[in-house]
Amino acid sequence: MLGDDSSLDRALIMADAAFYSCGGGGAGAAPLGRRREVVVSGKRVKTVDVHAHCAVPAAMKLVGRALEAEALLMSNTAERIRAMDEQGIDVEALSINPYWYAAERDVAAEVIRIQNETLAEICAAQPDRFVAFATVALQHPALAVEQAEQGVKRYGLRGVSLGGSIEGVELSDPKFHPFWAKVEQLGVLVFIHPQGTAELERTGRLQGNGLLTNTIGNPLETTIALSHLIFEGTLDRFPGLKICAAHGGGYLPSYAARSDAVQTTFPQRMTGTLKKKPTEYVRQLYVDSIVFTPEALRHLAAETGPGQILMGTDYPFPWTHTSVDHILGTPGLSDADKIAMLGGTAMGLLGIKA
Ligand SMILES: [Zn+2]
Repeated sequence: MLGDDSSLDRALIMADAAFYSCGGGGAGAAPLGRRREVVVSGKRVKTVDVHAHCAVPAAMKLVGRALEAEALLMSNTAERIRAMDEQGIDVEALSINPYWYAAERDVAAEVIRIQNETLAEICAAQPDRFVAFATVALQHPALAVEQAEQGVKRYGLRGVSLGGSIEGVELSDPKFHPFWAKVEQLGVLVFIHPQGTAELERTGRLQGNGLLTNTIGNPLETTIALSHLIFEGTLDRFPGLKICAAHGGGYLPSYAARSDAVQTTFPQRMTGTLKKKPTEYVRQLYVDSIVFTPEALRHLAAETGPGQILMGTDYPFPWTHTSVDHILGTPGLSDADKIAMLGGTAMGLLGIKA
C-alpha cells in the first residue's frame, strides 16, 4: 500500500497539472472561474474537505462572541465555492469551532438550536457542495446527548464536532460517557478540533514570536485529548466510536511509539489496563491531512494507515491552499490510498453520495 510507485504519481500529477495549467493559483489549480475536476488514474474522483470552518452570527450574539473572519459567513457562499472550485474540492463538511462551553444551559440550548438549524439550511440549499457536523453543548452532557440525536435525525447533519476539552475537563471524563454512547449508537463521525491550551497560555510560555498559542498550542491540545481517550479507556469502553482529529491528529502520530513504551518503562504508572497497545488505537482514529509536506503525510499514513486520513483544508484560515495536490503528490501512496484520502473514506463516513 505504501510501495514505491512514485513514477506513476509523477505522471498523474503532470497530467493533472497540464490539464489545468492555464490558470493562476498554484500547481493544479483550476483556471479562474472554472471548476477543477480531480482525476486519479483516469477516473474523476469526488473530493471532500472534512476541516472547513463557518460561523452563525445569530448564535454568537447570544454570548457576545465576535466574528473572527468575514469568510466564515455563509450568507454569500460564492467566494467559498470559487475557492473550492479552484482547488478541486467538491464537498465541504462544515464545522463551527466551539465558543459556547461556558454558557449556562438555556443559553447553550438556544445557541445550538440556532446553529444546527442554520447548518441544515445551508446544506439543504447546496446539498451537492455542503454537509455539516452538528454542534453540541457538551458542558451539559444530557443536553448534548439530545442535541446530537436531534442534529443527526431531525436536521440531517452528518456527524458531531467538539473542542479538544470542555472548560478544562478532558473528553475522557466519565461525565461524558453518555455522549460517547450516543454518538457510538448513532454511528456518526465526531470531528475534534482543538481550541489551544488555555492553561499554558496563562503561564505566558506561549507568548512571543510565532503565534505559538495556535502553532503548537492547537496540536498539543489534540495530542492531550486523544491520549486521554486512549489511556483512560474511553476507546475501550466505546469501541465503535468514529473520531476524526484535526491537524493530522496533532503530535500523537508523530511520536506514537512513546505511548507504547511507557507501558513497559513505567508499568507502575499505568493506573488502568488497556485492551490494546496505544499505537493500535492510533490506527483506529481518523485524522485530517493538514501536515503540509509529502514526508509528513507519508509518515502519518504509516502510523494511522492510509485509510484513516481524510483531506482537510482549514478554510478560510490560509494554512494551505494545496490539500488536493499534497495528497496527489505524496510518493508511496497507491491510487486507492489517494482516492480514499481525497474523499472516498469521508464519503462513507459522512453519507455523501457518489
Ligand atoms: Zn481549523
